[in-house]
Amino acid sequence: MTGRIVVIGADAAGMSAASQAKRIAGDAVQIVAFERGTYSSYAACGIPYWVAGDVGEPERLIARSPDAHRRNGIDLHMRTEVEEIDLAAGRVTVHDLAAGRLYREGFDSLVIATGAVPVRPPLPGVDAAGVFGVQTLDDGAALLADLDHARPRRAVVVGGGYIGVEMAEARRHIRPGSCRTPNWWASHRRCGC
Ligand SMILES: Cc1cc2nc3c(=O)[nH]c(=O)nc-3n(C[C@H](O)[C@H](O)[C@H](O)COP(=O)(O)OP(=O)(O)OC[C@H]3O[C@@H](n4cnc5c(N)ncnc54)[C@H](O)[C@@H]3O)c2cc1C
Repeated sequence: MTGRIVVIGADAAGMSAASQAKRIAGDAVQIVAFERGTYSSYAACGIPYWVAGDVGEPERLIARSPDAHRRNGIDLHMRTEVEEIDLAAGRVTVHDLAAGRLYREGFDSLVIATGAVPVRPPLPGVDAAGVFGVQTLDDGAALLADLDHARPRRAVVVGGGYIGVEMAEARRHIRPGSCRTPNWWASHRRCGC
């Protein structure tokens, strides 16, 4: 394995692939990874527990920070979104979201590890403020910010799979002393469950 590998997405799949390539090929391979969010290698399965207050800080859901990946020789760029793939030319166009800068990076191999997004049925209002999907830690942060600032009175969870049920159940596991106490939830009737 030689050359330059570009990885899109820095959670479980992307950083597993990047770390394994580094383990196998060492300095023979150059790895550049792009993550549009603010967290790398996180446990999305902990989002309901974070929303519930069982997990105080999102950092506790991070298995490996961007700096830890960089120390392992992976050139990881956070808050940087890949916007275009040119397979013929072997390059991606990336958008540094913080600096507002577009630039290109070449690759010999490309790993697309962008995950899946929650399905949003094409219903009127589905893009309205206050409608959230749950995939990334940034989604969890956005939801918590809305709960704290918009202070909604009721919540509807669409989807009764395990993630939907875990999100609904989050209300039932609030610990006193967490930022979202039982009284806080009860008094605002956030959730109809
Ligand atoms: C609430 C919840 C509970 C879960 N519980 C469990 C569980 O109990 N057990 C279990 O096995 N699994 C669970 N999962 C599933 C598990 O989290 C996922 O299978 C896993 O995160 C998938 O990893 P991934 O790297 O493929 O994708 P993701 O985790 O979705 O990561 C993709 C990354 O790519 C980034 N990205 C996307 N597009 C771009 C782009 N254009 N440019 C740059 N970056 C981009 C995203 O920001 C994201 O960080 C749960 C998931 C959720 C949301």
